[in-house]
Amino acid sequence: MAKKQITLEGISGAPGICIGKAYLVDTEGVDIVEKYFIHADALADEIIRFKAAVKDTRDELLEIISNTPEELHQSSYILETHVALLEDKMLYGRAIETIEKQYVNAEWALKTVISDIKVMFQNITDDYLKERKGDIMHVANRIMAKLAGVESVNIAEIDKRVILVASDLSPAQTSQIQLERIKGFITDRGGKTSHTTIIARSLGIPAVLGLDNATDIIQTDDIIIVDGTTGKVIINPDEETLVYYEERRGRFEAHKAVLVRGSRLPAETKDGLLLQVMGNIELPEEVVLVLDNGGEGIGLYRTEFEYMNSPSFPGEDELFERYRDVVEVMGRRPVTIRTLDINGDKSVACAADRYELNPALGLRAIRYCLKKPDIFETQLRAILRASAFGNVKILIPMISCCGEIDKTRLILDKAAESLEKEGIPFDRDIKVGIMIEVPSAVIMADIMAEKVDFFSIGTNDLIQYSLAIDRGNREVSHLFQPLHPAILRMIHRVTDVAVEKGIDLVMCGEMAADPLYIPVILGLGIKNLSMNPQSIPLVKSVVRALKKSDMEPFMKEVMKQTNPVDIETVIQHNFGTVFSEKIYSR
Ligand code: PEP
Ligand code: MG
Repeated sequence: MAKKQITLEGISGAPGICIGKAYLVDTEGVDIVEKYFIHADALADEIIRFKAAVKDTRDELLEIISNTPEELHQSSYILETHVALLEDKMLYGRAIETIEKQYVNAEWALKTVISDIKVMFQNITDDYLKERKGDIMHVANRIMAKLAGVESVNIAEIDKRVILVASDLSPAQTSQIQLERIKGFITDRGGKTSHTTIIARSLGIPAVLGLDNATDIIQTDDIIIVDGTTGKVIINPDEETLVYYEERRGRFEAHKAVLVRGSRLPAETKDGLLLQVMGNIELPEEVVLVLDNGGEGIGLYRTEFEYMNSPSFPGEDELFERYRDVVEVMGRRPVTIRTLDINGDKSVACAADRYELNPALGLRAIRYCLKKPDIFETQLRAILRASAFGNVKILIPMISCCGEIDKTRLILDKAAESLEKEGIPFDRDIKVGIMIEVPSAVIMADIMAEKVDFFSIGTNDLIQYSLAIDRGNREVSHLFQPLHPAILRMIHRVTDVAVEKGIDLVMCGEMAADPLYIPVILGLGIKNLSMNPQSIPLVKSVVRALKKSDMEPFMKEVMKQTNPVDIETVIQHNFGTVFSEKIYSR
């Protein structure tokens, strides 16, 4: 009998449509569990099998703990808690009881217990207890992986043309996706501007995130349709749906091809205002994508991705060579190299030396670099050396106070002096800018402008930190609102300061990549944009459909509004035709 068609709704991650076989990536070890009954005579053996899996899990955890250096004892404390939980009644006792009473296999018994625990914790709001639930889940998942003999999947090694289905994918895992094999991916978790989503956009494959329970419903080899533009996933589509989406996919690809063909044209409004549209990259290999899509420079090179899959910190020569490669490919076009922005949602194996309860507000980005001046100086020397080969700028992430700029300047001066002494060439007039992505930087922008050459507005974090919305949390993704009047006012202040102080200004957050926001961005006076390379052609085409002279009355109306929905209505009212189905479908 044909399987029933099911539609799931999630968050649109990266646009486009793909149709193909699902491949469950068992990121949590509990995704694919079969149920079967155990004969009464074999129950004792099944319980032994369960206990053996628990023992293997304990051995594995103890080994990790014994290999953990002293200074990391905080994280091993968590693992010790996990060891203790292995024999927790709620988990261990109940799983054995379920095998005995229901005559079921150990995996199924464990899955049942996990579901019960999830239900029990569902309405608990106490943070401490919620954390405990997370710990129990980790332990349960480890046991499950042992029972099922699952080794964690290496995404880079998947050799089928499939669509990945995962509970969650880390940015590091996502960056391992092989484009020639993976058609797209969907996850239960994640938000609109999580780094996983951003990478999906750079890769140019459709992605839907925040589906909640896709891994419970979808099985490997199920046929699924992923509509990354609308955030829909259709499982076991019927004939009619398949035909409809094949047609939509064709139209999407054709439209994309038309846009890409026009991407070399300048981003000039109908009345002659020229904008600069650049690309964001995570890895040097993506430079080609920027050029192919008509990017006029690299507005943001997220260098942390080079550190992500590496067991130790890369050395200066290795970094220098990678940066130089990018710079050489770009010729005289600008290449803005952002210094390490690790932690937050971008954990890096070689820097996992502490456990933070609240990583987004923790030792992230410049805070980490200032705490580790050697690592910082190594990177700064590599960037300076690359600056001898083209038009390089340095960008410092997550600045929240003037002291961070001053301290960075000191380390940069030290790096420059050492190169000078060694007779190694570099650009002595290299421009240094800061990301404006923390509210305090907006408030202090006039003072900070005196200390730097340019600002780059990182709307992903500016929204996260100003509206108190975790950018990777699907539960609050509806509140992640670039058109929030508070955000528009902040951007307005930053543009005013930049004009008054005569410094350059770029917007490099994902807001710049969404055509709907382009009239507002233009109206706020921003002329330099940087975005994931795939969005460049569409954004350029929208700019070409607008007129600078329309912006003044439009912005007066926008700034009068008190909520994002009304602002969107004003945009649609004024520029609806620009966003017609042909150009853009939300
Ligand atoms: C931002 O915060 O808007 C930004 C561009 O930086 P990232 O997404 O890497 O945090
Ligand atoms: Mg940021």
